[in-house]
Amino acid sequence: MMATEMKGIAASEGYAIGRAVILREETIPQGVTYVEAGEEQAELSRFDAAVAAASGELQELFEKMKADGRENEAEIFEAHLMLLEDEELIGAAQERIRSQRYKAEAAMNESGEEVAVMLAALDDEYLRERAADVRDVSRRVIRKLGNGSESEAVQTSAAGSTEKSILFAVDLTPSDTAQLDPSVIGGFVTAAGGRTSHSAIIARSVGIPAIVGVGDAALQIEDGQLVIVDGTAGIVLVEPEAEELARYQSLQQHAVNQRAELDQFRGKPSVSADGHQVELVANIGSVQDARQAQERGAEGVGLFRTEFLYMGRPDLPTEDEQFTAYKEAAEAFGQDAPIVIRTMDIGGDKELPSLQLEKEDNPFLGYRAIRICLDRPDLFKTQLRAVLRASAFGNLKIMFPMIATLGEWRAAKALLEQAKEELKNENIAFNEQIEAGIMIEIPAAAQMADRFAREVDFFSIGTNDLVQYTMAADRMNPKLGYLSDPLHPPVLRLIHQVIRAAHQENKWVGMCGEMAGTPIALPILLGMGLDEFSMSASAVLPARAFLSRLDRSKLAALAEAVLDMDDAEAVRTYVELQVPELKA
Ligand code: PEP
Ligand code: MG
Repeated sequence: MMATEMKGIAASEGYAIGRAVILREETIPQGVTYVEAGEEQAELSRFDAAVAAASGELQELFEKMKADGRENEAEIFEAHLMLLEDEELIGAAQERIRSQRYKAEAAMNESGEEVAVMLAALDDEYLRERAADVRDVSRRVIRKLGNGSESEAVQTSAAGSTEKSILFAVDLTPSDTAQLDPSVIGGFVTAAGGRTSHSAIIARSVGIPAIVGVGDAALQIEDGQLVIVDGTAGIVLVEPEAEELARYQSLQQHAVNQRAELDQFRGKPSVSADGHQVELVANIGSVQDARQAQERGAEGVGLFRTEFLYMGRPDLPTEDEQFTAYKEAAEAFGQDAPIVIRTMDIGGDKELPSLQLEKEDNPFLGYRAIRICLDRPDLFKTQLRAVLRASAFGNLKIMFPMIATLGEWRAAKALLEQAKEELKNENIAFNEQIEAGIMIEIPAAAQMADRFAREVDFFSIGTNDLVQYTMAADRMNPKLGYLSDPLHPPVLRLIHQVIRAAHQENKWVGMCGEMAGTPIALPILLGMGLDEFSMSASAVLPARAFLSRLDRSKLAALAEAVLDMDDAEAVRTYVELQVPELKA
């Protein structure tokens, strides 16, 4: 029998072979169900066992996060462990089973809701935010009472099995993905999502193959089926034949050999064949990513997506927590390596329960990133102070996302200056010369790049958003792949204009959108004169190897030529023809 094949968007390249694990959406029991008289004791034991199992799971998560240096996540799990000992939560659920003959699931759900609703109504913001923790913990216990387990699937494999698991889900939240353990999860396949959805980005940074936007077919899989994820072609093979399996095993082996070849580029400068040097840096979302990026040959960080420090937790990270994260990220690279800290970019596809943002019809065009920060200066200032304090320990730079107007940039800069004043008055050390720059990811800013360039220290082009706003194509919509392509000349023209504007004012310009790590884009961007390329860590060494084969002096003409072409396809064909090194 032929293997079944599913097609999706190749979100993170590489090959994974493993057993399917379906991450089912949670179903929380509605209403109250009861056990028969006389069964209370047995139900209580079932409940206690589930609490113990949930507690074991949380303990493991806590220890793992701690060992990985992910203090923030560790703290959340520690707080959840304490909730499992809470009388009002667990004691009350036991009481419902004992005296009212509730079924364990219903008892947990009702006690959890009762406490959560009570907390959510309080004036104290901190306590109010505990409601989310209570619900989270209740759900974990309820999952333990059943057999479908979201977090189990994310964090553990079939016990004792040497085979990796391949995760299948409707979608993964960024925090789900952040928790994936690559030693256990070989790859993932989701029904929804696009190439620049944040789960795809994290997959690339962790280096696990992923396919997104597969549609409902992704959910037709059965637990335990053998699957191959070809993250390079965007194909999933279910129950492959022996021949296919052998072919993919050999592809996997080839990839291992290729990695060994790339190793010789580790620790080397990033130079073209004719001696033009650029910077190849990484996009990160945590201290752990920083360490991994350093190991994978990045020269620094071109984009620290700090919003991940805010996500997957019920409260906001404190100044000290943030300071520690930024300082440790810098320390992972050493004193001189550039570390660009982007202030938080919540909104869009990244939700934050603790900010209680209203639901919007068009979140990517809504209350997001700098727009929230300028509206909530206290929140922003906490982050600015943390970045400044960490700047005493490395070559940190600060970058504001989603800038559309000069006014926004100036307001953000003014708050940065205020934070500097505060620290000075408090005698706290920081780098007074810290560079401050902006992301160019809104066409409005790209159009005004000449004006911005007079005031900022640098630009970093965010093509993920720049493409979606230029082409009016939602970056999360898998049906719009043909529009969501940075090689479309309107996008290339904006990029060209931004690079020229920066250089006119002697400012450096980087790119931290996914385009920067795409091989076909590299010759164009090099030809345009881009100074810094920031990409997922796994793309750094291949990019350095590719760069070493390119003759930059020949690429300026190529970069000019593509500006005049019809569409992305024409550009792609032309570059493939003109740059034979792409094939090597
Ligand atoms: C971008 O928009 O290109 C970018 C790098 O930012 P994010 O993907 O986090 O929106
Ligand atoms: Mg962006």
